[in-house]
Amino acid sequence: MAIFNNIILAADDDNIIYNEWIEWNHFGIPNKPEWLRIILRNFYALFGHCLICTALDGCYFVTRIMPELPQHKNCHCKKLYIGFEKVKHNAKAACDIEKFTKYAFIDSNKKKLFNSWGYSSVEDAFYLQREYCKQAISQYVKGNYKLKNLDNRGQRLAIPTCLGSKWFYSGWMLCPEGKLKNATPFGGWIK
Ligand SMILES: [Zn+2]
Repeated sequence: MAIFNNIILAADDDNIIYNEWIEWNHFGIPNKPEWLRIILRNFYALFGHCLICTALDGCYFVTRIMPELPQHKNCHCKKLYIGFEKVKHNAKAACDIEKFTKYAFIDSNKKKLFNSWGYSSVEDAFYLQREYCKQAISQYVKGNYKLKNLDNRGQRLAIPTCLGSKWFYSGWMLCPEGKLKNATPFGGWIK
């Protein structure tokens, strides 16, 4: 039944979408630990290896929404096909509480929005932290994400998020092995 594990019902419509997952691979870069990864990425950069490519190393994408491969002339990157079970097992999301307490609840535009939804306290921030992480993982493993900026630090994703009945995008940095780190709590409405 392995084949059917990859067929996921997309959340926003009734289309059945075949999600084929890959792990981006650049040789010589470990997925972890982070400190070794940084050293080796800088080491390879000395020999002309692209920092964008080595930032993508280890990241999981569905083949229908992935960065261009090859990224450039003489790109060493490969896509390794992986099973959905691996993505589901490894995917984790992290969201700093300060994204709310020191940004969304403070920044003049964002503050209005979050306050209008009834969120302003530290308890609300903890609730949102849990809710954002839960929703980000659930959407990401369905392949419900959009590619945003890609640079030496990595690939940002816009992920559909719902609070109350309002759908919008939150912004995330994609890290190796399906790890998501919240970059922005509100990245625009879903049109
Ligand atoms: Zn490359």
